[in-house]
This record gives sequence, C-alpha cells and structure tokens, in this order.
Amino acid sequence: MSARLIIVGPPGAGKGTQAGRIASALGIPAISTGDIFRKNVADGTPLGQRAKALMDAGEYVPDDLTNALVRDRLAEPDAEQGFLLDGYPRTTAQVEYLDALLAEQGAAIDLVVQLVADQEALVARLLKRAGEQGRADDTEETIRRRQQVYQEQTAPIVAVYQERGLVADVDGLGTVDEVGDRIAEALTTRGLTAAV
Ligand code: AMP
Repeated sequence: MSARLIIVGPPGAGKGTQAGRIASALGIPAISTGDIFRKNVADGTPLGQRAKALMDAGEYVPDDLTNALVRDRLAEPDAEQGFLLDGYPRTTAQVEYLDALLAEQGAAIDLVVQLVADQEALVARLLKRAGEQGRADDTEETIRRRQQVYQEQTAPIVAVYQERGLVADVDGLGTVDEVGDRIAEALTTRGLTAAV
C-alpha cells in the first residue's frame, strides 16, 4: 500500500527498532538518515568525512547535505509507493524541502508517528546502553547534548505537522511489542492498516 510516513521522537526512544517493524509490515522501506550518514563515515566517503565530527559532537549535519541525500534516496524505485522516514526531517528547513520534493510528485506525508518518552528515563537508558556496549564516545555530556538539540531543533517541527492534523502520539515507554502494538493501533485508526 502507499504510505508516506515519518517517525519522530527523542534519541533513545526506540525509533529505529519500531521503524523497521512498521516498514516491513507495510512493505515500504525504512529510511534512516543517521544510518546513511554512519555508512558514509564507515566507508570514508567525502560526505562521511564532512559529517563525522558533527555527528561525534551530537550536532546536526548541514541541511543542504542532508536534503540532497534524502532526494537521492527517495528517487530509488523502492520508495515510489511510500516510505518511512526515521531521523528526517529534523529542522524546519528540512520540512520545507521535503514538502516541495513531495509536491513535485503530487504526494504528501500521510502521518507522523511521535514516540513520547520522559527525557530523564531516556538519558538513563542511553547511559546504560553506552556502558554495556562500551561506546566510549557516548558520554553523558554527548547524550544530554543530543537531547537538547532534539528539543531545540526537532520538537518544533512536530508542531508544523500537528497544525496539519498529521501527528499520532504514541507512548514510547514499554517493551518493543507493547510500543509496536500502540503504533499499529494508531496506524489502523488512520486507515493505514498494518500488523506491526
Ligand atoms: P540518528 O541515528 O538519527 O540519531 O542520527 C545520528 C546523527 O546523524 C545525528 O546526531 C546527526 O549528526 C546526523 N543526522 C541524522 N539525520 C540528520 C538530519 N535529518 N539532519 C541533520 N543531521 C542528521
């Protein structure tokens, strides 16, 4: 089915995990700009070289680089019938860019799933994960900086979609299955049926 979706939520809310489940249930690709940047960093591409220091510091990659990357990805054949964006758009400039890009195709976003979770619970969860997985670069400072950047830059873009009546809030605390069930219900309510 055709579904053009966005999943948003603060770092650590489990967006990536849920994105994979929703996308496979709906038969659309999950597109994570963070994953694409990380692959470019690992491959040592020019884009990766520009993005690395910013990513390490918890800052955003410039909009022009990010928008160009999304344009290319959405032009792939598998995204023709829909997609689930994870980690994009993150700034108002990116929202405007995406609106224009979709309008070129006579398309628009169908729904934004917002995972809602308490910030301190997320910081605690991320610190625990950093310790368990030995992620030395995920310090408390960086983790808090990512939360702050999210609140400052990305939380306001949700308001834009709220004004359009496109946001479904989902409680992001709970097991993967519990949160998945809540998302499935939100999609069904909006006529986007999926057994997530
Ligand atoms: P994520 O895995 O989505 O948290 O992304 C990891 C990092 O990639 C972010 O902290 C940013 O540095 C960068 N990034 C991912 N998506 C975007 C975006 N839409 N705009 C700017 N930077 C991004």
